[in-house]
Amino acid sequence: MAKKKIAVIGIGKISQDQHLPVIDKSKDFELAACVSTRGIGHGNVPVFKTPAELYAAMPEVGLVSICTPPNVRHQMVREALDAGKDVLLEKPPTPTLAEFDDLVAYGRKKKKVLFQTWHSQYNEAVDATKKILKKEGVTSVRIDWRESVRKWHPGQDWVWEPGGFGVCDPGINAMSIFTKIMPFPVFVASSKLKYPANRQTPVDVEIVFKSGEKHQPKLSAGFNWLEESGEIWTVSIETEKGTKLRLERGGTVLVVNDLVVIQNKSEEYEGIYDRFAKLLKKGKSDMDGAPLRLISDAFFLGARENVDDFNW
Ligand code: NAP
Repeated sequence: MAKKKIAVIGIGKISQDQHLPVIDKSKDFELAACVSTRGIGHGNVPVFKTPAELYAAMPEVGLVSICTPPNVRHQMVREALDAGKDVLLEKPPTPTLAEFDDLVAYGRKKKKVLFQTWHSQYNEAVDATKKILKKEGVTSVRIDWRESVRKWHPGQDWVWEPGGFGVCDPGINAMSIFTKIMPFPVFVASSKLKYPANRQTPVDVEIVFKSGEKHQPKLSAGFNWLEESGEIWTVSIETEKGTKLRLERGGTVLVVNDLVVIQNKSEEYEGIYDRFAKLLKKGKSDMDGAPLRLISDAFFLGARENVDDFNW
């Protein structure tokens, strides 16, 4: 079967680290064009300054991956749907739930495939954990998500602007694992957001969750963006049967009762593009808003504290 022509919109860090190399080796997709405000390309494909220029010049390109920051995504997805494209979106989807819901409805109306990606969900260890929790139940979950903003978002000032999510940009990855593995619904009970006094988004977040479960499992998460000792991306869980699980390294490793049972290298974006190919084949969308809902509620309920200024 011929590969499907796809264009990538926004040629920043994640496009260059993951989307473009993964498309290059994909059996399902072929890079047809890039859209870049700075005119950055890849290989010898055409580069356009705006999506509108791409849609006018290359109507044969039926798919786009939108890899910009979230604040422009709503308008870009609508524009792509209007142009008759199927769309893959980076995370976080949009800065607001209203925009997200509108995209779900608009995708349905336009009868196109919309795929909201959550890269951390594409791990065997995450799937295995979900199965164990379904069987054994949950008494506690503690999420620790700490990394260096200087390493992962070097010089990206948009993360500090309203709608840029701050440390909840990586934190939402943890929420995408959490909402996938939990065998019952979870809600934000309270949250504490620490903001650098000179910035508009938090650098440190602590969230307590609740559930409707009678046994009242203990559920909490902490995100921090000033961790310079290396990444700590860990979910520690105790089941009702007493099994102790640890999802480590962003969901690539599963430790059960101190024994490593799954240890894979990260192939999250390969998983994302495989899933997109399957969705396109079925003509089905996949728009999971649950991680965004939790983060949004953490902002709604957040108690603010100002901390030291952040400068790159
Ligand atoms: P980035 O390096 O800032 O890249 C985003 C790119 O989008 C920019 O380089 C720019 O590309 C384009 N862009 C920025 N503002 C725009 C605007 N107003 N209108 C049109 N295009 C605009 O950011 P990133 O790290 O790649 O992150 C992009 C998305 O991927 C975010 O939602 C982030 O959460 C997600 N993500 C990032 C990582 C990571 O490791 N950084 C990992 C997973 C997911 P051009 O100059 O080419 O137009």
